[in-house]
Amino acid sequence: MVSEHASPLAVLGGVDAGGQNMHVASLARALVTRGHDVQVFTRRDDRGLPETVTVQPGLRVTHVPAGPAVALGKDELAPYMPAFGRWLGRWWSTVERPDVVHAHFWMSGLASMAAARPLGLPVVQTFHALGTVKLRHQGSADTSPAERIPAERRLAREVDLVLATCTDEVAELAALGAPSGRVRIVPCGVDTTLFRTRGPAAPRGDRFRLLTVGRLVERKGVATVLRALAELVPALDAELVIVGGPGSAGLATDPEVQRLTALAARLGIADRIRFTGRLPAPQVAAHHRAADVVVATPWYEPFGLVPLEAMACGRPFVGSAVGGLLDTVRDGENGLLVPPRDPAALVAALRLMAADPALRARLGAAARRRSLRYDTARVAADTEAAYDGVVLRASGDAVRASGSRPDPGGVHPGLGRRVVAGDVPFDTVQGPFDAVDGAGSGHDLDAAVPVPRGQRETA
Ligand code: UDP
Repeated sequence: MVSEHASPLAVLGGVDAGGQNMHVASLARALVTRGHDVQVFTRRDDRGLPETVTVQPGLRVTHVPAGPAVALGKDELAPYMPAFGRWLGRWWSTVERPDVVHAHFWMSGLASMAAARPLGLPVVQTFHALGTVKLRHQGSADTSPAERIPAERRLAREVDLVLATCTDEVAELAALGAPSGRVRIVPCGVDTTLFRTRGPAAPRGDRFRLLTVGRLVERKGVATVLRALAELVPALDAELVIVGGPGSAGLATDPEVQRLTALAARLGIADRIRFTGRLPAPQVAAHHRAADVVVATPWYEPFGLVPLEAMACGRPFVGSAVGGLLDTVRDGENGLLVPPRDPAALVAALRLMAADPALRARLGAAARRRSLRYDTARVAADTEAAYDGVVLRASGDAVRASGSRPDPGGVHPGLGRRVVAGDVPFDTVQGPFDAVDGAGSGHDLDAAVPVPRGQRETA
């Protein structure tokens, strides 16, 4: 895997460290569990980093020297991608040749294609976010380099396979010119053993607790939650805990913390919000368990791991009806969806939740069940099936077309690994998201058990 700015070893919650890091880390571990060797290549952003770290047997993280060995914002990294690609090409041709390259984010795609194409290696691409979508929502505030959208267009057409993380992204990829036969939905996965209903819970008092978790960037829409909270109090004795951002020592000087704190003061709710700073995953899970409702109201969201993590903890969830949330959350069945940037709609949904503990319990229980469809192990199986397809196509192997099965004790004809007991050959793997009962299609909202719409709209 190539993940230029998002190291699986990074501390999460900062401006550029979130879902991609988490996805790469958990997918890599789950693929190792399935018998693969995984090496993750990420940019060396600290002089103290060793070239390669062995995380566990079969899982290595290699730090690629490309650009200065200091932390840089991801939007500053494009100039270093040619060097990144040359380094990968040398490694793959002289040290170790992978069976398949999986690039995460557009810049990794550029470096991977430059290195892999001359060697005849297949490339799978997950964009995680698309420049066209970001520009649409952020306009002049978008700091992406000018070459991003043309590069994404080229990658969408030229890589062997694009893994879209949600249904919504498929249409965006089609608009970029991705051939439909080369796009497959494979979402991000959630660790449902770490994010589970039972376990330690963060301390709390009697106030009705709302929780948001994530990188502290404007588009995550925490301001919408603050505006809603201001409407809810004093009728509801509520509070908001905000997990994410810099470490606690950096909170006071963080521009987004300052902006949100000033807004809370203007809204008269300064004493009802609390920033924890970024926290490690077990503490994030503990905060979920302590929340009455978890809220995520981004302007847009390529996938959205936090909603799934909240759901895996069995929490009632309210989120924006955008991007990946349209797949993971069935409105009224395992959470509530509201339009983005709409505090009034959020107030209505939260009032419903606050007034009805039975509704919260029902949504929370359904959310846990729903999250299991996105368990990392299932996502890894689906990813492996995708890899197999491109590896077989690249090698011209006719095994897939003929439908023959690998010898259960032998080497799988696609990827070079032992097939382990209990495995299902790739062409019979039922992806968790594309059939069975339409899970993940995102177009079955009408089938959801409705919550009383009238109340939500008029509250
Ligand atoms: N996260 C974390 N600690 C924090 C804040 C966030 O571990 O203090 C994790 C969070 O649990 C999730 C990821 O960062 O796994 C954020 O992913 P998401 O897809 O929600 O948003 P993205 O960062 O991709 O925009």
